[in-house]
Amino acid sequence: MSGFDLKGRVAVVTGGNGGIGLGMARGMAAAGAAIVVAGRNREKSARAVKELQSLGTQAVAIEVDVADESSVNALIRASAEQLGRLDVLVNNAGMNIRKQPQDLALAEWRRVLDTNLTSAFMCSRAAYPIMKAQGGGKIINIGSMMSIFGASFAGPYASSKGGIVQFTRATASAWARDNIQVNAVLPGWIDTDLTRRAREQVGGLHERILARTPAARWGEPADMAGVAVFLASPASDFVTGTAIPVDGGYSIQAG
Ligand code: NDP
Repeated sequence: MSGFDLKGRVAVVTGGNGGIGLGMARGMAAAGAAIVVAGRNREKSARAVKELQSLGTQAVAIEVDVADESSVNALIRASAEQLGRLDVLVNNAGMNIRKQPQDLALAEWRRVLDTNLTSAFMCSRAAYPIMKAQGGGKIINIGSMMSIFGASFAGPYASSKGGIVQFTRATASAWARDNIQVNAVLPGWIDTDLTRRAREQVGGLHERILARTPAARWGEPADMAGVAVFLASPASDFVTGTAIPVDGGYSIQAG
């Protein structure tokens, strides 16, 4: 379907070298987009680039620390320079420090907020003038079930992911007239490095998630591809400011 065609479009995916980011990158690459894999780990990024190139599209790795302003500005500048344009920004990079609120150091709180929320602001702000000059763009922010729910071990993480939804609404309102659509995706429980660590650290988590998810399984990074293609493509040109759960029904289950 031509409405979902991404040929000629350039997508920057922070944290695109693994997990959900790579799942989204694979989907957009298969739809024809050129991909910038933006992460810290060079080996992971090189592997991801090779895999994306094997899908027949252009892909490059650019190193970034999304919590660092000058690194973020350099990423966006280099992406537009190397690939000639910037159509899609996926603010996906994220991390968690799992502790009860009373046990958290201020530096730990700030690290989670900077990586998960302030990064989205800095990347979006840097991308805005380029997208505006091009006549439009797409920004996809990655929230979480913790954008809706809380957990005792997730004070800063849930705060950052709740913030992502409100940041999405604010920027969607601000930039709609520039033809820039800004949406959030709220993944359910997806099998990645991040949640493998969570399962090690939080006893019984794996079974609780399985019992509560109507689809009766954990998600896979591949489950995130379709929503990325939709939100990156002309098919979503009148969709902005939303927060779309991709969760096997987790968030609509009462008990
Ligand atoms: P991963 O740990 O597999 O991926 C996290 C990615 O973020 C890595 O690619 C990592 O790259 C990158 N990253 C982390 N910190 C930085 C930084 N400072 N600068 C640049 N890149 C950074 O986990 P997921 O794929 O699960 O997570 C991706 C996103 O999805 C996160 O925002 C997470 O909160 C969210 N999410 C995940 C869910 C799940 O169930 N898995 C559920 C809901 C939301 P590198 O290794 O190169 O540093």
